[in-house]
Amino acid sequence: MEQLTFLAVHAHPDDEASSTGGVFRLLANQGVRTILVTCTNGEYGDALDGAKPGTSEHDGDEVAKIRAKELNTSVDVLGISRLVRLGYRDSGMSGWPQNDNPESFWSTPVDEAAQRLAEVLREERPQVVMTYNEFGFYGHPDHIQANRITLAAFELIDYEPTLYYNAIPNSVMAMYRERWAEEEREQRAADEAKGIVREPESASEEEVDLGTADELITAVIDVSSVSDAKYDALAAHASQMSGSFWMKMDRDQFRQVMGREWFVRVTNPRHLSGVVEDLFAGYR
Ligand SMILES: [Zn+2]
Repeated sequence: MEQLTFLAVHAHPDDEASSTGGVFRLLANQGVRTILVTCTNGEYGDALDGAKPGTSEHDGDEVAKIRAKELNTSVDVLGISRLVRLGYRDSGMSGWPQNDNPESFWSTPVDEAAQRLAEVLREERPQVVMTYNEFGFYGHPDHIQANRITLAAFELIDYEPTLYYNAIPNSVMAMYRERWAEEEREQRAADEAKGIVREPESASEEEVDLGTADELITAVIDVSSVSDAKYDALAAHASQMSGSFWMKMDRDQFRQVMGREWFVRVTNPRHLSGVVEDLFAGYR
């Protein structure tokens, strides 16, 4: 039988765990060869002590070193067969001056990075590829660029893989928002009990619409059986997890809340219809 191969194009160390940790582990358990392409080194994540990018205590190169090690651990936990680091510099959030650094992923010509990705696609010939939608799922320049280089690389190869974008259905997003609001209320109550008065949060951050209409979702993968591995992979990215939504949950809650991963099919060479429960539907 033909070797099944999955390849995901992710922007930063930790994205592989948050949006595809479950499918990576599940597919590895099924004997599928799994390839992770991580485009940037993640220089502009938080430092290990929580220092934020742009502050004097934050050293991007140091952060990248720590994140490289964390990524190795996550790759082990998820049983990923091959990690390809494209090694571009993190571009920072939209509008940051780091966007314009010529070494940044965002400033790299799409064709140049697409050539390198196409090289990997030719070597591995994955049947199924995953990346983010054209908005980079949440608007981060490196995520948008991951989408662009993937689409461009598809033009450079001699076959068409099935492409999926990761997604969160609106119905699930609503559930997350409720959870966040609940956490917020608990935090406020705890602060008030200690006599701390917090400024009300500005609403602007919540305006970003991360959800996808439920009817557009075409793959729903039950990853509850591997949710411990997904949890451990996220936990491996310790430098990025302080105060994280995920790490506030115990493993049972995590399984319930994070036990599924959702995708939207973009190319469909196997002429699938409707919602599938396996990213390799049509190939086995
Ligand atoms: Zn990212």
